[in-house]
Amino acid sequence: MAVWDDLVGQERVVEQLTAAARAARATVLAGRSGAVAGGNASLMTHAWLFTGPPGAGQTTAARAFAAALQCTSPDLELGGVPGCGFCDGCHTVMSESHADVKFVRSDGLSIGVGDMRALVLRASSYPTGGRWSVILIDAAHRLTEAAANALLKGVEEPSPRTVWLLCAPSVQDTLPTIRSRCRHLVLRTPAAEAVADLLVRRDGVEPAVAELAARAGQGDIERSRRLAVDEQARSRRLEVLRIPLEVADIGGCLAAAQRLVDTAKADAEALAETRDAKETDDLKAAYGASEGLGGKAPRGMAGAVKELEKRQKSRATRTRRETLGVALLDLLGFYHDVLALQLGSTGALANEDQRPALDKVATAGPPESTLRRIEAVLACRRALDRNVDPLLAVEAMTVALRAG
Ligand SMILES: [Zn+2]
Repeated sequence: MAVWDDLVGQERVVEQLTAAARAARATVLAGRSGAVAGGNASLMTHAWLFTGPPGAGQTTAARAFAAALQCTSPDLELGGVPGCGFCDGCHTVMSESHADVKFVRSDGLSIGVGDMRALVLRASSYPTGGRWSVILIDAAHRLTEAAANALLKGVEEPSPRTVWLLCAPSVQDTLPTIRSRCRHLVLRTPAAEAVADLLVRRDGVEPAVAELAARAGQGDIERSRRLAVDEQARSRRLEVLRIPLEVADIGGCLAAAQRLVDTAKADAEALAETRDAKETDDLKAAYGASEGLGGKAPRGMAGAVKELEKRQKSRATRTRRETLGVALLDLLGFYHDVLALQLGSTGALANEDQRPALDKVATAGPPESTLRRIEAVLACRRALDRNVDPLLAVEAMTVALRAG
């Protein structure tokens, strides 16, 4: 299975990346140093920025490209596509164990300046395999400002065989000085059919389940996967989609808002529970702290732990906002379906499984009230982006969703 197979609906991006990987290979074969020398070499460059709608596959694209750069398939001699998926190069990159490919996962925490300086330093060394030294940052928008400035140094003064792969939701999420030095690739929202195919092929999901999940996921591959395989994600979605029927009176509106916010909070707490303690332990272990050393903490550890806890707290806030964001997307999808029904569209609906509820809401009022509700959901999203208190923002929305 080629490394590109998990990337769905991104034909143009794949074309560009495979062309770049070919040019990169020519550079290596010619023994040239520098990604910018030679005839076709302009197809290749040392810094790339992948953006696109949530879940479209930015990191998947970057990882596949990294594999293609390390691909050693004998078929390449015969004009095969770099990124065969079978050779040792591809395999080790995809399993994230290649010596010359460093994955920087934010795991929800912001990436600090210390990590980034170490990376830039590492990037300046020649790749052990003689090909490319690749650094993939899966959430470039979560760099602290100091870290972004350290990264800028690496991107500004590229070592000859270093490739930076940055992923971010949108180009505005990165420093202008960084993005101006990157080649920018924009992923599209993949079609539901393509996502369903992937879920069947890759995750062994039943075709009917895959189709429903892909539609409900609205182009977000990871969200679709979770809806297909995770019972809890499915029941969360159903809870959210009950809201349009619950907002008949003020009491129902307030109760629905409270439930939504509580659920988001519980999600964030559950996630924190599994991650925070381990991160703190790992940090302490890195400082060589262990119980039974007379209880004296190593120098600098208290400060580092405090710093970590601060980052964990801001991650919890963000997780809560993201969970609410998913709920709002589900609601938007619901009202878009209602509008489609009201306007007599016969196309596929995102929430086909909710047909009775959709029909009920669609026949209860005119399209104008649906448009008004869509605007209420969008207004809530904007309010959350502005850090308005979540309960206030969500209450304002559910009240505005009321009939009439
Ligand atoms: Zn390969």
